[in-house]
Amino acid sequence: MLELDEALAQVLAAVPAPAHETISLDDAAGRVLAEPVQAPTDLPRFDNSAMDGYAVRAADVASARPDAPVRLHLAGTTAAGGAATGAVAARTCVRLFTGAPLPHGADAVVMQEDTRLDPAMADEVVILAPASPGDYIRPCGGDVKRGARLAGPGEALTPGLIGLLAAVGLSRVCVARQPSVGLLATGSELREPGQPLAPGQIYESNRLALKALTQRAGALAQLFPIVADDPAATREAMAAAFEQSDVVVTSGGVSVGELDYVKAAFERMGGEVQFWKVAIKPGRPFVFGRCRERLLFGLPGNPVSAFVTFLLLVRPALLRWQGARCLDLPAHPGVLAEPLVNDGERRHFMRVIVDAAGKVRSTGLQASHALGSLAAANGLVDMPGHATLAAGTAVTVLRWD
Ligand code: AMP
Ligand code: MG
Repeated sequence: MLELDEALAQVLAAVPAPAHETISLDDAAGRVLAEPVQAPTDLPRFDNSAMDGYAVRAADVASARPDAPVRLHLAGTTAAGGAATGAVAARTCVRLFTGAPLPHGADAVVMQEDTRLDPAMADEVVILAPASPGDYIRPCGGDVKRGARLAGPGEALTPGLIGLLAAVGLSRVCVARQPSVGLLATGSELREPGQPLAPGQIYESNRLALKALTQRAGALAQLFPIVADDPAATREAMAAAFEQSDVVVTSGGVSVGELDYVKAAFERMGGEVQFWKVAIKPGRPFVFGRCRERLLFGLPGNPVSAFVTFLLLVRPALLRWQGARCLDLPAHPGVLAEPLVNDGERRHFMRVIVDAAGKVRSTGLQASHALGSLAAANGLVDMPGHATLAAGTAVTVLRWD
């Protein structure tokens, strides 16, 4: 049986090099950059005011105190969006609003709260506090210098990065194409949620859970109809899914005895099975195959097995497909609040919840069908076989949320 690391290496080696496309920044959330991006402009683009207040020469107001104010002549007003007009000569000031360009001659802004107006002298401002050069000025290039590298290939377009790229005026970005993922569920017992169930039938839940994980990995998910445990139906369903998808993810029908439905259908299409069975729990039965540039992931049917094997073996492949630099689940350090026990012999990715203080607890029943403990969890702890970790042990939680 393959170790997880070896299985992952084989999967990643089969992923084709990313293809690129240029898209609107408006649609780029979660996509992966394909090219370096440099700042075409400084940020801020010009010296401007960080506050509503008055542009001054700091030297003029160095002695200003509430009980010894300094009076300056009001020479004008500039709002945000207005061009800087005039210049601040000695013993004058210009009214500025946040974001307004700093007029020539000024080297500081006094915030409005440190000033007052004299109703008797409409063209004077009473300054109540001193200022030092640079106060409340957002200098040109103080945030980002023109030409600076903002991000590079393999980096995800996070909300913050999207904001930055918009701020420097970029409207389009070159990103990696997203793989299309066809999701199939096999099992004669499965019915669509919302439909009536006959005795012995259950609701199909893997496709929707895997769709959510697929989308979080930045890929495009497409659901295909439920497939009965029947060789011809499996062949037809797989052929349809492969026609429309870069990656096909099936669930069910890969344990001993049933393996041949998925595997045989795949091989008949010209696919080559690279391995099946990985030494992890949940999820030992797992088929990985290649069909030209397309990939098959045959996940076990048990919902938690399908979910966890997706996180460990499919997610990294979808990210690599997009050229993402980081393929690992986010690792969150924590400390066990109670003992964690793996009494099985296989390496077990156990469902846990890590709270804001870093305390880690099992979410309960760790069986492969138990969705309650999956829904309650926000991560996994990788436990070696036959191991007990005492309360207080530092652990790494692999998070998916
Ligand atoms: P299998 O891998 O097909 O042997 O299925 C293992 C277990 O998972 C069985 O109890 C199935 O009923 C259940 N199962 C398989 N596929 C699904 C699915 N798509 N949704 C919910 N349960 C499933
Ligand atoms: Mg089945």
